[in-house]
Amino acid sequence: MSFVCSYCGKRHDDELPALAFMQPDHWLTLSDAQREEGSLTADDCVTPDGHFFIRCSLELPTRDRAGQKLTFGVWSTLSEENDNRYADAFFDEDQSKLGPMFGWFSNEMGGNFRPTLNLKCHVKPQDHRQRPLIELEQSDHLLAVAQREGIWFAHVERLLHESGAYET
Ligand SMILES: [Zn+2]
Repeated sequence: MSFVCSYCGKRHDDELPALAFMQPDHWLTLSDAQREEGSLTADDCVTPDGHFFIRCSLELPTRDRAGQKLTFGVWSTLSEENDNRYADAFFDEDQSKLGPMFGWFSNEMGGNFRPTLNLKCHVKPQDHRQRPLIELEQSDHLLAVAQREGIWFAHVERLLHESGAYET
């Protein structure tokens, strides 16, 4: 299945690409020496100045396309204790048993949503080895509103082009 894009006029697959951040923004502020001391994988990041981050998914539903959502690969902090719990259960099929954990949103999304760094959120581990979902704290921040009420599909199309996920 595919749709005609209102941004470029071409056809794209119905399966929308995810937009992923490969590290928490904080990692980019570290020196080479600090990065040597820390660690960054596809799923977690520890920095020598005492921060713990995990890779999560942020889903924004669309308002006008039932079932369609835009997924962002983003990072959140966790407390050291919760990071340990998460790591211990990483390979478990029933990771949702951990329950929601508090975190600070750790990427700047840019565009209309700016600023998004350090928004309060809840990290919700999922079963079956899916990345945890981020639920932003209820507020009138545009990103929180977008998660709660959805975004227009035309906005999704624009974001996918602006991010380079779709060629323009
Ligand atoms: Zn397009």
